[in-house]
Amino acid sequence: MITWTEDQRSLRESVEGLADVLSDGHVEDDQRGAFPRAKWDRVAATGLLGLPVDAEHGGLGQDVLTTMHVLEGLGHASRDGGLSFSVSTHLASTATPLNRFGSDELKRRYLPRVAAGELIGAHAISEPSAGSDAMAMRTTAVRDGDHFVLNGSKAFVSNGPVADLVVVYARTGPAGTAAGTTAFLVPRDTPGLGFGGPIAKMGLKTSPLCELFLDDVRVPADHVLGRVGSGFLVLDYVMKREILYSFVINVGEMQRRLEQVVDYAKNRAQFGSTIGRFQSVQNLVVDMKVGTETARLWLYHTAQKLQSNKDTTIDVAISKLVASEAAVASAMNAVQVFGGYGYMAEYGLEKDLRNAVAGTIYSGTTQIQQGRIAAMLGL
Ligand SMILES: Cc1cc2nc3c(=O)[nH]c(=O)nc-3n(C[C@H](O)[C@H](O)[C@H](O)COP(=O)(O)OP(=O)(O)OC[C@H]3O[C@@H](n4cnc5c(N)ncnc54)[C@H](O)[C@@H]3O)c2cc1C
Repeated sequence: MITWTEDQRSLRESVEGLADVLSDGHVEDDQRGAFPRAKWDRVAATGLLGLPVDAEHGGLGQDVLTTMHVLEGLGHASRDGGLSFSVSTHLASTATPLNRFGSDELKRRYLPRVAAGELIGAHAISEPSAGSDAMAMRTTAVRDGDHFVLNGSKAFVSNGPVADLVVVYARTGPAGTAAGTTAFLVPRDTPGLGFGGPIAKMGLKTSPLCELFLDDVRVPADHVLGRVGSGFLVLDYVMKREILYSFVINVGEMQRRLEQVVDYAKNRAQFGSTIGRFQSVQNLVVDMKVGTETARLWLYHTAQKLQSNKDTTIDVAISKLVASEAAVASAMNAVQVFGGYGYMAEYGLEKDLRNAVAGTIYSGTTQIQQGRIAAMLGL
């Protein structure tokens, strides 16, 4: 059990205070499927997008645990799960590796505006034929003087349609080797970098996603994050934080949904009794409570180990698996408790379910996490 300080609580309160603004029109925004830039700016104004960025580069210089505490507040406050996903993508994809692995010059040029949310970040790892098997990526980066020339294509770039900076992972060495990949910070206006249009998807509709095309894209060598060949080390660092950040947002969402469902079950009457008196309804709600608490415990436990520089390979995999599956179950149970109203778009619960399904796929699918856990058990 973590006891949060006054400072940590007040950082979170500044985001929780935006609940009405961020949730306003969330069902209509989902139906339109447009990125809510004005809401993004409101989140940015709280300083949240600079939470894990060093203070000397315009951020708030907060650790992973504090960042998570505030992000949980974002999930709790905002009914726009797509916006929250765009926030965690921005933080993990770009702010995190730039802050940790960028050169001083690169940080000076970009980081203050990333921390302020003026520049939106994305990352491009997956490819049409390299998803779970990221090591099979084909996008190449070939050294040419003081530049690298990138060629290839990327799939599923969250924030891509609105991104100003993309961290592109490309092969600089032999295919299939962990040491053969490098991370590059690529500004949107770099010649040869092409963005596809927003791709329609099942959920997270306010978080736009697109393909990326790289046709002789010349990237200055000083835009490498980390070292040449260290792309998978950068990605490992990024993915751990992406999982902690995006799924603690889900915990906030699960908590909010639990409160909504308890309230509904106490007030909705059928057969002369409130539905919360029926044990089968109680079981649905109890499972939501257990899922929320279990996911929260795993995520913060993993973050504490991470901050103590302990090996978190199995903990991250368990956290991701537990939290993503709990989020789907929580949304599904909420739809069930609300009955026909749960199925109606107006209540936002069917949207929550569509949003939650994505969590079992991005940042490594459920099956990939199961494989990692099995491997850690020596199987
Ligand atoms: C909403 C959303 C946002 C995303 N955002 C980004 C982003 O910003 N940047 C980015 O680079 N990518 C992003 N992705 C892509 C995501 O990382 C991939 O979809 C994911 O890694 C799975 O890859 P795939 O879709 O190619 O599926 P595949 O790898 O083809 O998997 C298909 C099925 O096979 C299973 N499978 C594959 N390999 C194994 C194995 N070894 N053992 C057991 N089962 C296996 C999978 O679990 C899955 O069920 C996003 C995806 C979604 C849905």
